[in-house]
Amino acid sequence: DKGLEKTKTNFLDKLGKAVAGKSKVDDDLLDDLEDVLVSSDIGVATTIKIINRIEERVARDKYLGTEELNKIMREEIAGLMSEVNSGNATEFTVPKQDTPYVVMIVGVNGVGKTTTIGKLAYQFKKAGKKVVLGAGDTFRAAAVDQLQIWADRVGVDIVKQKMGSDPASVAYDTLQSAVANKADVVLLDTAGRLHNKVNLMNELTKVKRVMDKVIPDAPHDVMLVLDGSTGQNAFEQAKQFTAATEVTSLAITKLDGTAKGGVVIGISDQFQIPVRYIGVGEGMEDLQVFNKVEFVDSFFN
Ligand code: GDP
Repeated sequence: DKGLEKTKTNFLDKLGKAVAGKSKVDDDLLDDLEDVLVSSDIGVATTIKIINRIEERVARDKYLGTEELNKIMREEIAGLMSEVNSGNATEFTVPKQDTPYVVMIVGVNGVGKTTTIGKLAYQFKKAGKKVVLGAGDTFRAAAVDQLQIWADRVGVDIVKQKMGSDPASVAYDTLQSAVANKADVVLLDTAGRLHNKVNLMNELTKVKRVMDKVIPDAPHDVMLVLDGSTGQNAFEQAKQFTAATEVTSLAITKLDGTAKGGVVIGISDQFQIPVRYIGVGEGMEDLQVFNKVEFVDSFFN
């Protein structure tokens, strides 16, 4: 699978070393496995869950050979991922409804928010949807410019105001324009400052409240974008954003060129939020609909 090579090589290499010369799964090996999982950025809490499940199987079956370990880890990780990630969609799609489907995109600067919005706009447009972008990150001139570049490249509408204007006002305009033009999808960017929790919360709450005036149940999805290559930082950001607003989906970027792809498993499990997309490069096509089965398989194959 494109983009996950380093994660896989690193993981299988460590797993191989832990298992080398051993025929059965014992406490020593479980300790080593714990290290392998933690150092693959799966996160401590999720690692403990996985280890406990393997331990239960060892206790139940009395004996577990190391040749079965791959299969069992794969089953347990797939099981964890299935608890939160339903479905196996491979297409870029949004629910059909009477009003535009509104996705509000949150995340700190630099994680790949703008790029992800651009890639999504491209995919939705390709799927025949009418897309409107909203330049709600009004604090950085560069953010609005970058989004405009993507809008031009992909060929979709963008609603923006001058720098420094109220993000809630941009959100309002964007939704009005989307409704007037009978758009299918709105992708609304937001400011990526993680100043302090209360400010972040107030800002996002205000943007959401204003949206409701145009489309009562908007946003339909609050997508948090995280940079997968930052490992534990991504966990920390997930913690802060989920405390500030109700995050309903995740996009995890920059999984190409990193060995830290385990964050996808850990963050999804720990925060119980489905992963909707993964970013595997800088190009327009380098976004994939997250498929839990393929993802787990790509770890082990
Ligand atoms: P923003 O500040 O969150 O809007 O971040 P940008 O969208 O501007 O992205 C920051 C940098 O990360 C840019 O150089 C992007 O090309 C790059 N980037 C975004 N997504 C990916 C990805 O999936 N893989 C790689 N390798 N780079 C990415």
